[in-house]
Amino acid sequence: MPAPPADLVVQRPEGLYCPPGDFYIDPWRPVDRAVITHAHADHSRRGHAHYLAAAPAEGVLRTRLGEIDLQTLAYGDAIDHFGVRVSLHPAGHVLGSAQIRLEWRGQVWVASGDYYVAGSRDDPAEGNATCDPFEPVRCHCFITESTFGLPIYRWQAQRELFASIDAWWRANADAGRASLLMGYSFGKAQRILKGVDRSIGPIYVHGAVEPLNRAYRAAGVDIPATPLVTEVKDKALFRRALIVAPPSVQGSTWTRRFGEHSDAFASGWMQLRGARRRRAVDRGFVLSDHADWPGLQRAIGATGADRVIVTHGYEAVMVRWLGDQGLEAGSFATEYGADDDELPGGASGAVAASEEAAERVAVEVSDAAAARVAEAIADTAPVDDAGT
Ligand SMILES: [Zn+2]
Ligand SMILES: [Zn+2]
Repeated sequence: MPAPPADLVVQRPEGLYCPPGDFYIDPWRPVDRAVITHAHADHSRRGHAHYLAAAPAEGVLRTRLGEIDLQTLAYGDAIDHFGVRVSLHPAGHVLGSAQIRLEWRGQVWVASGDYYVAGSRDDPAEGNATCDPFEPVRCHCFITESTFGLPIYRWQAQRELFASIDAWWRANADAGRASLLMGYSFGKAQRILKGVDRSIGPIYVHGAVEPLNRAYRAAGVDIPATPLVTEVKDKALFRRALIVAPPSVQGSTWTRRFGEHSDAFASGWMQLRGARRRRAVDRGFVLSDHADWPGLQRAIGATGADRVIVTHGYEAVMVRWLGDQGLEAGSFATEYGADDDELPGGASGAVAASEEAAERVAVEVSDAAAARVAEAIADTAPVDDAGT
């Protein structure tokens, strides 16, 4: 009997490692060679000697990491590293996000990083309009996230969602109240800026958002002009304005300049009532850069993989579901999960910036609530009927 094929990705203390290629994927400790799926802080860290990422990620990566030794690869192009053929394919998560396809001795593995695909509707309008859409890649083994891997997570159609954001903003503007919409400054903020109706009023941003906006514009993404809040001399302008800022501004003195205003929070976690209450905002909009439950199922199914490894999110629920589908399923313990919409990963070292720390508070609360929901759902509800 021939020996079973060797695994193309294994766990090491530094991160996910490709033994034949001698490189890491999104490592959390400094290594010589890092292949990066995307520029969120928990997946792309400082301190590696060499970085490889998708070409459209260059601007956001350099914005976040500064001077790094970065080699880029166009989506679909391949390089050979110690006999491993490496190519990058769009993940639909944020600008430049990539799935990493590895081919070695006839085996194909895909490490997807974080990805966005709305599973309820097979409609191009449901893609993330700020980056290339998720591309299914056939493989033997698929390494997947599971941030929203529970049947309760089903995203609303985007045009409905943005219509409700616009309606909230318009009503505030008509009442002479500023609209403060909080969302993570990389990815979420640009989704909001791209998706809202610019005719309602002026749009201003927090200083943490604008450097990323510039990187998106430089990559050709249509993001409106967004002066900084601190550049606005006439405070009356705020009364019709939409202000996009990271969650860390909530309750801070930075918001006082707006006077009476309505605040809202955009996150996948807003689907949980407890998370909405906990954030204590006027409105919660369910907007995520991650696949919902049907999206995860559809993405995994489209790979044709008979083996799936879950990296972060609701691993146990997803592994169980995959097993029920007759797939070989397992999980990797990673240190991902500290960026905007993610559950905290295993390690505290993942959280660096205060913005992420503030976000994490909300996430941990929803984690505990959601874990209870997960148990209940996994034991009772058939997958097709759960959620709304
Ligand atoms: Zn991410
Ligand atoms: Zn992630």
